[in-house]
Amino acid sequence: MSFSDLPVDVGPVYEGERIRSKQMYVELGGPKIEKHFELVKVRDVKKIKDGHVELHGPDLKDMEQGGRYPIGILVEVAGEQLEEDLEAVFERRIHEFCNFVNGIMHLNQRYTNWMRVSTTAYEKGFNSLELLGTILIRLFKAELPIIEKCQVTIYTDAKDIEEPYEMAMSTYEKRDERARGLHDEDVDMFYGCVLCQSFAPTHVCCITPDRTSLCGSINWFDARAAAKVDPKGPIFEVEPGECKHDVAGEYTGINEMMAKRSLGEIDRVYLYSAMEFPHTSCGCFEAVDFYIPEVNGHGIIDRNADTIAINGLAFSAMANQTGGGKQMPGFNGISLQYISSPKFQQYDAIEEGLDGGIYQTVWMNSGLKERVQEFLPEDVRDKIATEQDVSDINELKQWLEEKEHPVVQTWVEEEEEEYEEDEWESEGAMVPMGTQTMTVPGVGGAGGFKIILKNCKIHAEAVIIKRIDSKKKKKK
Ligand code: SF4
Ligand code: ZN
Repeated sequence: MSFSDLPVDVGPVYEGERIRSKQMYVELGGPKIEKHFELVKVRDVKKIKDGHVELHGPDLKDMEQGGRYPIGILVEVAGEQLEEDLEAVFERRIHEFCNFVNGIMHLNQRYTNWMRVSTTAYEKGFNSLELLGTILIRLFKAELPIIEKCQVTIYTDAKDIEEPYEMAMSTYEKRDERARGLHDEDVDMFYGCVLCQSFAPTHVCCITPDRTSLCGSINWFDARAAAKVDPKGPIFEVEPGECKHDVAGEYTGINEMMAKRSLGEIDRVYLYSAMEFPHTSCGCFEAVDFYIPEVNGHGIIDRNADTIAINGLAFSAMANQTGGGKQMPGFNGISLQYISSPKFQQYDAIEEGLDGGIYQTVWMNSGLKERVQEFLPEDVRDKIATEQDVSDINELKQWLEEKEHPVVQTWVEEEEEEYEEDEWESEGAMVPMGTQTMTVPGVGGAGGFKIILKNCKIHAEAVIIKRIDSKKKKKK
């Protein structure tokens, strides 16, 4: 397939290209724009004008340099073998295909999509979004030959985007709702996705009914459909094998697949834990689940949060720490859908004597809490604080005690554990094989993570422990 008739180059080599705000001509979508989306719909073949691109709203050449605009990308496809289950998987490819364009940076998916067009590309003649539509159509048909016909409609006008935006939101909800009814023990096949390895080479998503991919866009049904039509593609079947630990969600098949696909980097994953052998995170997770050692609880902040988290860090700061395809105990990139699963981080919670991960969740940003409200068990819903209830860890502690949050019952044991560690520290000798837990505070002394060393021997000449005083944030 050739793109030589276009003013800019197109190809996988440009994936990973960063466009900083100084280099951008315009920004489309992203956190500062209210309504934006990308959606793929399978249509009847008669309804598609193959190759057709339509634009509703100002084109690139009508936009002000440095401006921010809405973006809605609706890709409609037809083909004999196509089924609705494939829509989400095709939709995820919009991210990849946009990034193929030299001069476009694309982040995220669904209603969090965020693009930048570089000034260099604009000056070379990439001055119309119709060119983007044409590129998408060519790539979709070339890379996914089961797509026989394809048309693209792009929305950049704040009014015109409203209707298709609502349609997109209800499509996402319908997909999520269907997936919520199914659980890991109900199926005999899991799936893996390596689409994000161009950014995070050791990252593999394990997609199971309870763990929708962390980008939130590929659930178990979507992955099943993708693996069926393209078994050698980026989404593939994973035989679960033997379940070694049902509370942790450890499966031999997943461990083997991880070892193979992560270039030997990761060979053990607990699907339902943020603390031990956690699932890796690339960069497109919908939210970060982070451990708060001071209260032995977890916080969750989502990508759209307009506040900093209770540990003093913004989503972007924690995303840097979490992403990149490494296992980061205490930081876990997750989809919003996973929060509604009864298996959500259940290993960590059950280890602490709690009923499930949601009972160890102590803080969420208010926007996120509102979104997942209906999935929070009634007996804990009002006990999870947001930035509107508390503004630092001390206030959070007080809140949890006042509300009798279930996590409070784990505090006594924590104190005992610390006491044991103190004794060990004063001896300063070789520590026998065993499990050691230590807590490392994050920026400003707040947040941070817990390091658990299993079956370890530690020898140190001296152990120096310095107190880091936490800076309290002032309530505005
Ligand atoms: Fe695939 Fe996971 Fe990347 Fe989503 S986040 S595209 S499921 S690898
Ligand atoms: Zn990713």
